[in-house]
Amino acid sequence: MNTHSISRRQFARLLGVGAAAAIVRPRITIAAEESTAPARNKPGVVRLSANENPYGPAGKAHEAMKNAHPMCNRYPDEANDVLIDKIAKINNINRDQIALGDGSSEILKLCAETFTGPTQGKLVVADPTFEAILEYSKACGADVVKVPLTSNYAHDLQKMGAASQKALIYICNPNNPTASITPKNDLRQFIGEASPETMILVDEAYFHYADSPDYESVIPLVKDHPNLIVARTFSKIYGMAGLRCGYGVAQPETIKKMHGFQMWDSVNIMALSAASASLDDEAQVTNGRKMNGEAKSYTLSELDKMGYKSIPSQANFIMFDCQKPVVPIIKAMKDKNVAVGRLFPAYPNHMRLTIGKHEEMQAFVSAFKQVMAA
Ligand code: PLP
Repeated sequence: MNTHSISRRQFARLLGVGAAAAIVRPRITIAAEESTAPARNKPGVVRLSANENPYGPAGKAHEAMKNAHPMCNRYPDEANDVLIDKIAKINNINRDQIALGDGSSEILKLCAETFTGPTQGKLVVADPTFEAILEYSKACGADVVKVPLTSNYAHDLQKMGAASQKALIYICNPNNPTASITPKNDLRQFIGEASPETMILVDEAYFHYADSPDYESVIPLVKDHPNLIVARTFSKIYGMAGLRCGYGVAQPETIKKMHGFQMWDSVNIMALSAASASLDDEAQVTNGRKMNGEAKSYTLSELDKMGYKSIPSQANFIMFDCQKPVVPIIKAMKDKNVAVGRLFPAYPNHMRLTIGKHEEMQAFVSAFKQVMAA
């Protein structure tokens, strides 16, 4: 599978130097791009349903993808190495502590396959939480234990820890769908006291949006805890949901076990190139946070004026109480061309709403007013 035609350094240079790449860059016409656009992104539909980033990837990521076109015939080993080097440097960890994934979904799936099943252990999750890993674990034949969030919408760490020692405990922080956090001191203490037999997966997909003093990443704790894995994604603040790239951080032995279940070269060269370039584009994070914060404040204040209260949000989405069953409201919003989040059965009256651009949130407010007045 390895066809090393250029060195890692040459590859990194090629990603960064637009002028050099321009010589070999193929021309792509707008018409060709339009004709192949997937039908799912229907014009006219305001899509606030999947916690995507409405602004898209960083400028440097676009440029890096164009520069990577001439390398599409090669396996992505060098691009893989470049990204792993950057992630290692940023997080102050070693290369062998990182597994790249085809989205962080692949990291979640690898954790389910490696650590849950009839012999490995149960999966313990919050209710409600991001459900993908439940499906992966069920497919592995694992029992799944659901523990309701606390009244503050934090993970009930004590109850989760008591559910089973031989388990993978999935902690989504900030949590999808509630956008709430589990306080850093509680999480740190929990990780410090957990049995070494208990694997802990902390999903930090929305890390960049959290600004509470009560929140922190647990990546720095990995060096002391062989049972800790942290998942990150390029789908949210970096706007790369359609490209698919994420990563997991753990101790080398844990990463090695996970690699045993992984497809070789699962991340493609476009995603790798864009992800590497994104990490060099600090404005992507600062601007993304700022624009999300402004559109979120506007939406929350409009909902507040209408008398609807939201769970405090530390992410690029909110969850608020509609004061009546949400399913008919989701349908009525769809009829008005506004797609909102699906039902989360633990909270049948709550709507999960992605924060889009300001004008998208204006469209949401207008449609929501009409639906609730009908
Ligand atoms: N983890 C959480 C908490 C998510 O909300 C999502 C997607 O919405 C994912 C993981 C999957 O992200 P990715 O696109 O990296 O596979």
